[in-house]
Amino acid sequence: MKSQDIRSKFLSFFEDKKHSIVPSAPMVLKDDPTLMFVNSGMAPFKEYFLGNAQPKNSRLTDTQKCLRVSGKHNDLEEVGYDTYHHTLFEMLGNWSFGDYFKKEAIAWAWELLTEVYGIDKDILYVTVFEGSDEDNLPMDTEAYELWKEFVSEDRILKGNKKDNFWEMGDQGPCGPCSEIHVDIRSAEEKAKISGKDLVNQDHPQVVEIWNLVFMQYNRKANGSLESLPDKHIDTGMGFERLCMVLQGVQSNYDTDVFTPIIREIETISNKKYGKDEKVDVAIRVICDHVRAVAFSIADGQLPSNTGAGYVIRRILRRAVRYGFTFLDKKEPFIYRLVDVLSAKMGEAFPEIKTQKQLVENVIKEEEQSFLRTLDQGLVLLNAIVNETKGDTVSGEKAFELYDTYGFPIDLTALILSEKGLKLDEKGFNEELQKQKNRSRAASEMSTDDWTILGTDAEEEFIGYDTLEATVKLTRYRKVVSKKDGEMYQLVFNITPFYPEGGGQVGDKGYLEDSRGDVVYVLDTKKENNVIIHFTKNLPKHIDQSFKAVVDANQRFRTECNHSATHLLHQALREILGTHVEQKGSAVHSKNLRFDFSHFSKLTQEELNDVEDFVNARIADKLDLIEKRNMPKEAAIAEGAMSLFGEKYGDTVRAIRFGQSMELCGGTHVKNTSDIWHFKIVSEGAVAAGIRRIEAITNEAAKDFYFENSKAYSEMRALLNNAQEPVKALQNLQEENAALKKQIELLLKDKAKNLKLELKNELTEINGVQFLAKKVDLDASGLKDVAFELGSQSDNLFLLFATESDGKALLSCYISKELVASKGLDAGKVVRELGKYIQGGGGGQPFFATAGGKMPQGIPDALEKAQEFIK
Ligand code: ATP
Ligand code: MG
Repeated sequence: MKSQDIRSKFLSFFEDKKHSIVPSAPMVLKDDPTLMFVNSGMAPFKEYFLGNAQPKNSRLTDTQKCLRVSGKHNDLEEVGYDTYHHTLFEMLGNWSFGDYFKKEAIAWAWELLTEVYGIDKDILYVTVFEGSDEDNLPMDTEAYELWKEFVSEDRILKGNKKDNFWEMGDQGPCGPCSEIHVDIRSAEEKAKISGKDLVNQDHPQVVEIWNLVFMQYNRKANGSLESLPDKHIDTGMGFERLCMVLQGVQSNYDTDVFTPIIREIETISNKKYGKDEKVDVAIRVICDHVRAVAFSIADGQLPSNTGAGYVIRRILRRAVRYGFTFLDKKEPFIYRLVDVLSAKMGEAFPEIKTQKQLVENVIKEEEQSFLRTLDQGLVLLNAIVNETKGDTVSGEKAFELYDTYGFPIDLTALILSEKGLKLDEKGFNEELQKQKNRSRAASEMSTDDWTILGTDAEEEFIGYDTLEATVKLTRYRKVVSKKDGEMYQLVFNITPFYPEGGGQVGDKGYLEDSRGDVVYVLDTKKENNVIIHFTKNLPKHIDQSFKAVVDANQRFRTECNHSATHLLHQALREILGTHVEQKGSAVHSKNLRFDFSHFSKLTQEELNDVEDFVNARIADKLDLIEKRNMPKEAAIAEGAMSLFGEKYGDTVRAIRFGQSMELCGGTHVKNTSDIWHFKIVSEGAVAAGIRRIEAITNEAAKDFYFENSKAYSEMRALLNNAQEPVKALQNLQEENAALKKQIELLLKDKAKNLKLELKNELTEINGVQFLAKKVDLDASGLKDVAFELGSQSDNLFLLFATESDGKALLSCYISKELVASKGLDAGKVVRELGKYIQGGGGGQPFFATAGGKMPQGIPDALEKAQEFIK
């Protein structure tokens, strides 16, 4: 069965069981601060499990792109070495939110595997939770009894908390689970040892394919468990592993999910898969990693120097490194795999198809820049090797190479071993640990459980219509972090505060109780669909109502920038073309930043056109037309722009100004004329094929023009109120250049005269032409004169002194012949004479200089010069 069919069979099986099929969420979730990437199918549904939102259907099914490269679930180091762990993989899931529970989940899983997919039940094992003393939990006998209906008891295994109790993090919904494992070994192998003994033993052919999680508890901050009011089903089946089973192969990499990419790598590298284990590991690493990196870029997460972007950069670098070391690829090549990838997966995940060009460009440039790093690193490593005494390179040096220059440690070790040297791995690991401790200490944070007050519903955001409201606190908690110290997070029944999102900053403002006590809201954010207000203190009277007031000024200026961002987006697509796609935006009260895909620098003319376009729409006084709760399809049909990497619901909010229409949850001006004026302040590159524009509006634009006009007036005044100041300035510059030329000529003349003068002053002492004199020339003039005199004589000894800005400089020139015949050394001369001017210096035997801070010593130094030739 082809992988495409395997995927669609899963989805349609659960659709028949009344589940709604939903698309995969993007891999980076914007309102979950606890996760860098989606690492399991349940992550995008956390808000439903936590009871913060209601799904449209209590039964859903999907395939979710998951990335396990950081945090609690990190498989990165396994990838390439085994045949069934990936960085990016698809997790097929069926979901029940307070609807069906264990009985249906178990029966349907069995039906799908054995009847629809036709897997022989004799290769399957299932596990159930054995219970845990630590958590005071009994064995999951309910699941055991249910499985017994389908599976013989010798194939139902009991598992411990590590394997059979699923938790998404340190806190939150969790529960026991039942895993389904396959044993795809040959009959011969099976005769040697029973599959039963290999389950959960990291055997490459006895692997877990599906995990059915029965969510029924909530883990609190103090580690204790409480029962959830509603029980849920969360299942996750590894798509690539399922394909391995159904296609009758022994490795995920031998399924049609990967073989086209492997063939392409073979063609590009001229190496064969399956001949040499090192090459095989490299090929697996590369074909795995290109998927992770490509999908991440398509979802809007570009490689960068921090956070999630840095993780992506490291994954790509790992692939480059394996290509570099084991496939001899010293040129970018990974980007060339995006073609097959998009042909293979573009149907299920169209984002990879539509953004192919961008993905290729970004990967290519990253490859290029890392290959340059590798080149530089090799040079540095050579220098380290040359400095090393003995046979071991210090761990500290290797760490510096790794940390500062991004040079991979395994490559360092490999190169050293080729040179017969050792690496002090212990020292390296110590440095690494120190660094980890530093960053852990910096990000340490403790979060209390929510304190729930009353049962008021937590309602929606009302800040589109009002900036002030009477609100009641529904829950709060304390969070302590190194960065912000002690903070409180407050949730209200209703709120006018806009939570950070869609690039727009969160609102600030204050809360006031009836006695006039005020607490400031420093920021507002959304977390798993709950709007959280950040304050330094807990309000005194938490059970009362508060007047919640948004800082209107900041909100208005932010709105000007947000609406201008929409107009800018429209302008860019109109002027540069429809290949322009939003790749990020940051809308603050001070300015706006807009990142978009485009392949070259914007010309001044294009920038002018963009400004004109936006300002024309501001002048047109376009009214805001806002449609809330529009069906998403209808909005798209009307021409609304939607963004990759955003998670949209079924109904959306559409924002229109004239012909500009976008799906957007942000806040906007009522009329474009509020923006007053739009001014671009910078344009530049952020990554290959991605440009960034920064711009200002309203007050900031006014300030900008005011400051400029002030500077202009001042400049004109300096130019004697010239009618044409630009021309006057050009004249000044030309005059200045002419004067500089004249001075140069004069200085040359002066040096020439000086040379003649000095030549006449030479005296002969002991057969040496000698002169020690204070002259009025700069250092380079001095050197010229010395060398010119020197070229005319072969027994010259010169000592010149100059003084400028309260400092003294000695220069000594000695003909090479004298250096040889008399053993003289200009370096020694200036070092010794330098003492008189309280300075030091050095150079070569025939020319050396010394600087000092005591010009008063110059006469003494000159006086003593003779002694060197006597
Ligand atoms: P394993 O023990 O094999 O690492 P797991 O216990 O981490 O698996 P779960 O967290 O239960 O797996 O995830 C559900 C399913 O997702 C697994 O049954 C497996 O089929 C699949 N899966 C998990 N991790 C990976 C991975 N890194 N690559 C591919 N598939 C995976
Ligand atoms: Mg795992």
